[in-house]
Amino acid sequence: SAVAKPCVSFAHFGFDDDLMAAIIKAGYSEPSAIQKQALPVALNGRDIIGIAKTGSGKTAAFVLPMLVHIMDQEELIKSDGPIGLILAPTRELAVQIYTETKKFAKAYGLKVAAVYGGASKMQQFKELRSGTVEILVATPGRLIDMIKMKATNLRRVSYLCLDEADRMFDLGFEPQVRSLCDNIRPDRQTLLFSATFQKRVESLARQVTTDPIRISVGHSGQANEDITQEVIVLDDELLKWGWLMQYLPSYCIDGSVIIFVSRKGAVDLLANNIKEAGYNVGALHGDLMQVEREKVLRDFRANKITILVATDVAARGLDIKAVKTVINYDIARDIDSHTHRVGRTGRAGEKGKAITLVTKKEDRFAGELVHHLEGSNQPVSKELMDLALS
Ligand code: ADP
Ligand code: MG
Repeated sequence: SAVAKPCVSFAHFGFDDDLMAAIIKAGYSEPSAIQKQALPVALNGRDIIGIAKTGSGKTAAFVLPMLVHIMDQEELIKSDGPIGLILAPTRELAVQIYTETKKFAKAYGLKVAAVYGGASKMQQFKELRSGTVEILVATPGRLIDMIKMKATNLRRVSYLCLDEADRMFDLGFEPQVRSLCDNIRPDRQTLLFSATFQKRVESLARQVTTDPIRISVGHSGQANEDITQEVIVLDDELLKWGWLMQYLPSYCIDGSVIIFVSRKGAVDLLANNIKEAGYNVGALHGDLMQVEREKVLRDFRANKITILVATDVAARGLDIKAVKTVINYDIARDIDSHTHRVGRTGRAGEKGKAITLVTKKEDRFAGELVHHLEGSNQPVSKELMDLALS
């Protein structure tokens, strides 16, 4: 098929002066690898299944063509719903995409709104009703609520993007995402992006796209090589705390730190212990009130707190420049989740460090880690190899 050639400079995409100014203002001097490949294809109106490493600029790869798409509309449908719809798996990511999209949408005076769970339905209802929203960023559940409340409708949507697309087809989300897709005109343009894309998801992805172009920079699940990964093998779970107290000070010197644990309860416990040890730390997990979640993340982005203890709710998509170290205090539930967690550092060409604590009991995961590290050009220690082979 005739696929557009990659463009190597932002000047090659045919963006107008207003959008070019916004791109320059965002500090983007040159398109990233995924942007070079995906932008021309998306601007040609084609569906995309896009796979590229964490921190490689996937957001702009779907947002910029969306703006061009919207500006090209000739108001075919008289309706007041959004034209561009972006779905994301977590509230925090929806907010981040919203903020990022607004930066560029300003160039054309387009209105962007975000709806997501935990926040006031009435406020979101009012915002959607108050005027024309051209772009909507949403988590699936809350969007369905908003449609039921008749706050908005999907009749005008002709550009749909699923960010963290593989996650959007996970157990909890799939029915919601599917029902939303089924209610959007079939001649829409659909873009799916993630750093990980299992085979199983690919067939689901093909059901919501039309003749998609598959673009992949590196292979699915490959960690960003700007992240130096280290795996520490500990004899016992009980040794984790001592390890953390010994090494946390040095990681804090480099910049902000995210510490992942596997359970919500463990987040509060660990965050309290770290706090008692004299650190400036915040906790993020799904049992907190939404206002608390947003405050913690705001403070973390603003460097008011420099250590964040979190569940996997923070594993996907979040882009926080100061994060230099990711610590997997507990191993991730699967290797794709590990890839996303470590991807909270090493973004936009910056270097980062990821340390994963593995106990002797976790030999099965050790095997997957060995494979992951080898596929991401990272060294594998003898201890880890021994554990994997044990
Ligand atoms: P991904 O979704 O691939 O993980 P993001 O879209 O969150 O990555 O982008 C990561 C960071 O890189 C963001 O801070 C973003 O503003 C920045 N970025 C994106 N594209 C460029 C570019 N062309 N030049 C410089 N920085 C960029
Ligand atoms: Mg992203």
